Formats: sequence, C-alpha cells, structure tokens
Amino acid sequence: GSQNSVRVRFAPSPTGPLHMGGVRTALFNYLFARQKKGAFVLRIEDTDQTRYVKGAENYIIESLRWCGLEFDEGPVQGGAFGPYRQSERKEQYREFADLLVEKGHAYYAFDTAEDLDKARKEAESQGQTFSYGTGSRLSMSNSLSLSDEEVKQKLEAGEPSVIRFKMPDEVVDVEDEDMIRGKVSFKTSDLDDKVLFKADGMPTYHLANVVDDHLMEITHVIRGEEWLPSMPLHVLLYKAFGWDKPVFAHLPLILKPQGKGKLSKRDGDKLGFPVFPLKWTDPESGEVAAGYREDGYFPDAFINMLALLGWNPGTEQELFSKEELIDAFSFDRV
Ligand code: GLU
Repeated sequence: GSQNSVRVRFAPSPTGPLHMGGVRTALFNYLFARQKKGAFVLRIEDTDQTRYVKGAENYIIESLRWCGLEFDEGPVQGGAFGPYRQSERKEQYREFADLLVEKGHAYYAFDTAEDLDKARKEAESQGQTFSYGTGSRLSMSNSLSLSDEEVKQKLEAGEPSVIRFKMPDEVVDVEDEDMIRGKVSFKTSDLDDKVLFKADGMPTYHLANVVDDHLMEITHVIRGEEWLPSMPLHVLLYKAFGWDKPVFAHLPLILKPQGKGKLSKRDGDKLGFPVFPLKWTDPESGEVAAGYREDGYFPDAFINMLALLGWNPGTEQELFSKEELIDAFSFDRV
C-alpha cells in the first residue's frame, strides 16, 4: 500500500466467546478498511494467561469467517492467513519496557502483594483510595524511592519486579481528538502509574497493545468505549516512545434492553435473543448458549443488523448488502 494507507486492527482477548458487540467492532473496522482500500488485521491479545479460555480463539476466527469479515495479513497457516498472536511476540515487549525505563518514563517496582494490600488498607482507614502514583510512589518500594545500590541488589537477587509507567510529576492535560467523541481531555493527576510489564515476564495489555499498534503501523484504533479511560495512558506512551500515535475512535457500546447496562458475554441466553454470532459451549461448565448461525440467520442479515446498531445512513434505507455498507459507512454517522 501507499504510505498513508489506512491500517486497522481488531484485537480481541481470547477470554471467552465474542459477543455481538465485539463482532460490531470488528465490522466497523472492516468496513472502514475496505472503503479506504486499506488493511484489516486480526491480533489476538493473549498475554493474560490467567484469563485464557480454551476454544475462544477458534471461536473468534470462525465467527469472523462466518460473517465474511476476512482479515488481510498474518503468519500463514495451512495456506491461509492466521492471526497475529501476542504470545508469539512476547520477546519484543521487554525491550520496549526497558527502553522506557532508560528514558526515565518507567521504573521498577518491587512491592509484594502484601505491601500493596497494606498501602490500600492504610489509605482506606483515612477514607481515601490508594493510587500508585505521584502522591504515593516515594513511600513504596521502587527504583525511584530506593538507592541505585538497593535497586541493583534486588534485580541481581532476582526479586520479583514489575515495570510501571511514570506519570509526570507536574499535572499535565492529555488531549486528543477522537473520531467519534471529538475533543477528549484528561488530567494526569487523575491517573495512576500503571503496570506495563508483569513479574511473570509478560507485558500488560497497555504496553503490548501500544507497541503492536506502532509496529503494525496501525493508523486508526477503532474500539469499544470501555477503552476510552485507557486512551490518555496510550497517548502518553506514544509520546514517551517518541512515536506518532494513531487516530482513536471509541464506539458507543451496545446496551441491553430496558436500561440494564452494557451487553456482556455473561448475558448468554438470558435476554430473549442470542448474544453470540455462533453457538457457544462453555468448556468448563458445558453450558450451551445460542448463536445466530445455528438459529438460521444469514450472515449478511446479521451484519446488516449490527451495522445499524450505532450507525445509520441518514436515509430510510434499512437493508444493505455488504458492498453497500462498505460504500455508505462513515464515522460521522456513528
Ligand atoms: N484486547 C482488547 C479487548 O479485548 C483490545 C482493546 C483495543 O482494541 O485496544 O478488547
């Protein structure tokens, strides 16, 4: 592609089946990529092993395939593109975490679970909530509060440590232009020093997500609104690395009927309509939840319905082929 060609990604975590909100996120990414003659990338964000659900990755890929949302690149597996998997890229994340430490934008922290618990309880007893950051970090155990010698000893002794992002000492306004929300602004005083790299040798979502979006040259990050609170940290990470940041678009969430909050995987079969694209059998409980495919819907009807949940063409038209959706879609009408 040309230098400014659009590149988007769908980046699900394999923590369970994809519900229709996730499919809609993938769909909006796909429509935008196709309209702009850009690339649509699938990246499986599987660095949190404690939340890994067997069968979820296959389910995600099969769902996208059934919906006709084919992705454009990835390591070839059996003659077709497979997804990028963060677990297969894990060596690279440590380097980037170390780079931030070198630049003074991140630091090692050695606090044990008990230390953190104690700090939380202490804050609570004073009617406050503990936040690891500018106000508290010097009373904790980390490379900003300890001497260089102490830090060196701890690292050499192999004491478990995490790497945390260092929020600026002075309050900074983080502002950005979201394609859907418009101008969004946050104050760093409301943000804590998030963990970027964990003691188990794995990056957290924030680090892996930003590093991969950069390395994969993603131009537009289109994702659910539940990630809006992560946006300031991500903007600061791009800045700390000295990288251009992508354009963000945070999609309004699909809600349950009757003001019952946002749709989730746990809603399974409880709402009187399927929440999942395909039937899902829970690997632990064996419980089965219905899917649109098995209920006899055509994939094009399913994506037509999803496209109109949160977007409309500004006309009376309700039935769209996939090609028509690709032509008509625009973020102005989300
Ligand atoms: N892995 C995140 C998720 O499961 C991705 C969020 C994003 O797109 O940045 O939704």
